Amino acid sequence: MRYHVFLNGFSDEFEKQSLEVLGFIKECCSDIEEGKTIIACRENSDFEKLSVYAPTNDVVFITSDRYIPENILNSCEKYIDDEAIHIYGFDNFSSENSVRMSVRKNGSSLVGVRNMSLSDDCIFGKKMIYSNHMEATFKLKKSPYFISLAKGIFEGQITEGNNKNIFIEQCILNTSDENDVLYYNIEKEDKKEGPENAKLLVVAGRGAKDKASVEKLEEFAESMGGKLGVSRPVAMSAWAPMDKLVGVSGIMAKPKICITAGVSGSAAFYAGIEKSDFIVSINTDEKSAIIKKSNVAVVDDFKAIVEELKKYIK
Ligand SMILES: Cc1cc2nc3c(=O)[nH]c(=O)nc-3n(C[C@H](O)[C@H](O)[C@H](O)COP(=O)(O)OP(=O)(O)OC[C@H]3O[C@@H](n4cnc5c(N)ncnc54)[C@H](O)[C@@H]3O)c2cc1C
Repeated sequence: MRYHVFLNGFSDEFEKQSLEVLGFIKECCSDIEEGKTIIACRENSDFEKLSVYAPTNDVVFITSDRYIPENILNSCEKYIDDEAIHIYGFDNFSSENSVRMSVRKNGSSLVGVRNMSLSDDCIFGKKMIYSNHMEATFKLKKSPYFISLAKGIFEGQITEGNNKNIFIEQCILNTSDENDVLYYNIEKEDKKEGPENAKLLVVAGRGAKDKASVEKLEEFAESMGGKLGVSRPVAMSAWAPMDKLVGVSGIMAKPKICITAGVSGSAAFYAGIEKSDFIVSINTDEKSAIIKKSNVAVVDDFKAIVEELKKYIK
């Protein structure tokens, strides 16, 4: 097995990312054969200075007057090795390029990697999941492998004085430049708007049965100025986005009123609503755990009860 490194010299965080890649290689790649470092950067970059951060002796510079992922990907493609691990930094561009390259090369990829180990026919990567509440180990079965790192995990140092074999390659811009994305603006969602801060939370469980019913429950929540949360089966069925997941793997909510519909009340879920001031549950099964854990429990079909409640709200 061999590793290659792909660094983004266009990034403002080039040095920080490169040091973290160096740290990752020291920690996780000591038994793996060294390959090449490919650095994408501006045409007028200081190659000697950038090459100091390369973890390998062979360094290829792919130069362009500006950052265009499509062109960089095209130029990097010939350095992909079918049996190797390809390591990228931690920024959004690194994640994007690693995933896109794995799709092009029919390999497997993992972003946000915190650790890696090898087996005879696969690699294992660790990353945080469910809003950073759990660490999961993923098995990447299909080579070539592409991984981009989690930020702030690894600390590396540069070793001065190594003579690097530097090769510089021009990256040709395509003719349809006017269609390229020139500017990215990445904005974080305003968390104040999310279910974790809602005064009134309506949670849809698997008993909701389909996406349309979950959407109706969201309308119901919003008609009262509240927010929708969901249990894990609902999020995993893609009836609602993952950022609405309530429980140990998602949001820990503390609303004044929490209404659950079609939720059984497992411990992993209940941890996410136990700080509610008042819990109302609607469930057809009087033996479900949520019934005992609620201030008010209604044993009935949630649809009928929600329709009744709507009349009172009006
Ligand atoms: C490590 C780990 C972490 C986990 N983290 C989470 C987490 O963060 N959040 C989470 O939710 N789960 C989590 N889970 C999963 C959790 O254990 C439960 O499997 C899950 O909460 C069950 O979701 P549910 O109540 O919607 O579904 P179910 O348990 O299937 O319950 C559905 C309920 O709907 C009722 N029902 C059916 N039809 C109707 C109807 N028409 N009207 C009213 N009621 C109806 C049924 O009686 C039943 O009680 C985790 C599990 C593990 C192992």
